[in-house]
Amino acid sequence: MQEKLKIGNVEIISLMDMIPPPRPPGQFFPDVDQALWEPYKEEVLDKGLVQLYYGCFVVVSKQKIVLVDTGIGPGPHPTRGNKKGNLLKDLQRKNIKPEDIDIVVHSHLHIDHVGWNLDLSSEPPIPFFPNARYLVPSIDWDHFTKPDNLANAPWVSENVIPLEALSLMDLFGDGFSVTDEITSILTPGHTPGHMSFILSSAGQKAAIVGDAIHSRVQINEPSWCAGVDIDKVASEKSRRYLMEKSVSEGMILAAGHFHPKEHFGRVYRHGNATRWESI
Ligand SMILES: [Zn+2]
Repeated sequence: MQEKLKIGNVEIISLMDMIPPPRPPGQFFPDVDQALWEPYKEEVLDKGLVQLYYGCFVVVSKQKIVLVDTGIGPGPHPTRGNKKGNLLKDLQRKNIKPEDIDIVVHSHLHIDHVGWNLDLSSEPPIPFFPNARYLVPSIDWDHFTKPDNLANAPWVSENVIPLEALSLMDLFGDGFSVTDEITSILTPGHTPGHMSFILSSAGQKAAIVGDAIHSRVQINEPSWCAGVDIDKVASEKSRRYLMEKSVSEGMILAAGHFHPKEHFGRVYRHGNATRWESI
């Protein structure tokens, strides 16, 4: 287990915002038959339930401090047992001040990835990271700001759309250089514009995978899709792509929804089977 990793000259630091209430496997992976969980009961499930974690990452690259995703936000969150987010406290624990963040970049626009964008207790809202540009995937922006989709995504109205009026937001697409060492890669499926981020420095590589991979069980079972994946065929393809890069190139993967002890790891293949080894 590591909280910090060096990828060449890049430093990546894992952060924890909140541990949401666990959910029955059938609720999280509705297309997966209960019996198929049998081999993973001990290793993956927690008292028979799927436990997710709302983690984010800070990447220090080329004198820039980049926050990748902003958790679910301060809360309390009625849809998550009234729990509260702790991202600012965890940043403080790691000696990072909100004003140190130069860039906030989002993998996608779900509630648990945009929550600490804006302090909504202030009128008008003010950014939690006062010196940051906020980078938003353009395909997700187009998708979530359509009236029908926006009606079901109030967090976008609260925590993303005001960034535009505040002149804090830039849209980005596939292959965008966040810094010379951090490049976005379109990994659609979970959402249409879902982005992963490839870190590349001094011959070493890692990828922050966002929600292309939610749970460690998907390393063993890449065809399993979360119910919330919008396009499940694309989601599986994106997941397999990232896993293949880890297998063939030894690329480290950083998965914010995994247990904090397993946020960083590599995928290994044995015959047809794949498994996760955390570092
Ligand atoms: Zn998520």
